[in-house]
Amino acid sequence: MVITNLTMFGLSLTKILFTVALIAVAWLIFSRSQRDRELSARRRESESLKDRVERVAREAVRRRSGEPPAAPVEDLIECPDCGRFIPHGTRCECGWKG
Ligand SMILES: [Zn+2]
Repeated sequence: MVITNLTMFGLSLTKILFTVALIAVAWLIFSRSQRDRELSARRRESESLKDRVERVAREAVRRRSGEPPAAPVEDLIECPDCGRFIPHGTRCECGWKG
């Protein structure tokens, strides 16, 4: 009776250990696949973010090259009287009108 009880206990213990091992393996596989999915999702996200940043940068460059320069150097003229560089069409400090 005692031996039978021990054997039954041993069998159930083995069964429990086997079940725990199965759960552990299943959990490991599940967590690994979950992590892989998260990693790939994060990679996709970062790639799309990179693409977005590149697109914004390209648009900014295009807009900048398309618009006229903020301070056009060509419009500065040298005053023949005093030599100052003044914007074209404005009156020089010496009184000369460009
Ligand atoms: Zn002048």
